[in-house]
Amino acid sequence: MTELTPRVFVDFDGTITRIDVGNSFFRKFGDERASLKAVAKWKAGELSGSDLLIEEAKHVSVSREGAIAFCSTCELDPGFKAFFSFCNEQGIELKILSDGLDFYISEILEQNDLSVIPYYSNKAKFNSHSLEVELPYASECHKCANCKGYQILTQTGPDDLIVYVGNGFSDRCAVQYADIVFAKDELLKYCEENNITYFPFSDFNEVLSRFSAILKSGRFKKRHRAELKRREAYLAE
Ligand SMILES: [Mg+2]
Repeated sequence: MTELTPRVFVDFDGTITRIDVGNSFFRKFGDERASLKAVAKWKAGELSGSDLLIEEAKHVSVSREGAIAFCSTCELDPGFKAFFSFCNEQGIELKILSDGLDFYISEILEQNDLSVIPYYSNKAKFNSHSLEVELPYASECHKCANCKGYQILTQTGPDDLIVYVGNGFSDRCAVQYADIVFAKDELLKYCEENNITYFPFSDFNEVLSRFSAILKSGRFKKRHRAELKRREAYLAE
């Protein structure tokens, strides 16, 4: 049997950071009511992920400097650095997949000496006091602006063991293709409702202890339904 290579993908907002930075940013510098309404419509399937971001961004009034200053108030999950170090020591690749915006991800990673981590997200362009979003990965999936499921499919191969850690609504497409899922909050509920096997967690210290135990045991395999879904997606191309 071919040996599987674990590949770790992690959500950013509310998973690596304690709070959802994107939501807080749009509420603070945009129109909170419009933002809440748009998010509700997106969750109801009435608004695409791309349209949600465009709608939220259009109300934003802040300079790039003001937005960057806001980032310094956002704390990391208490165990994330240790988890990242563990993956590094084991030679396991870790990537961030986010349906949020690049400026706060890169700033928060830099503030925490983690700039080395690759991330895939939507992009923000500041024009004086307004914000324009660019969607370099907009795919056929209308739920997401940057579809994490699509990212996983295009970045992994048949010998990879896909590990996913997330907390929210924008992780739905990712978990269907993941072999090992760590979930909390809304994502946990989603996994429950859709019979997706997952490990619950409250912070990365728990993810680290469970993940290292799984690796140590050597007893890990592809999740059958995830493998079928991946195969279906490749065939549909
Ligand atoms: Mg999240």
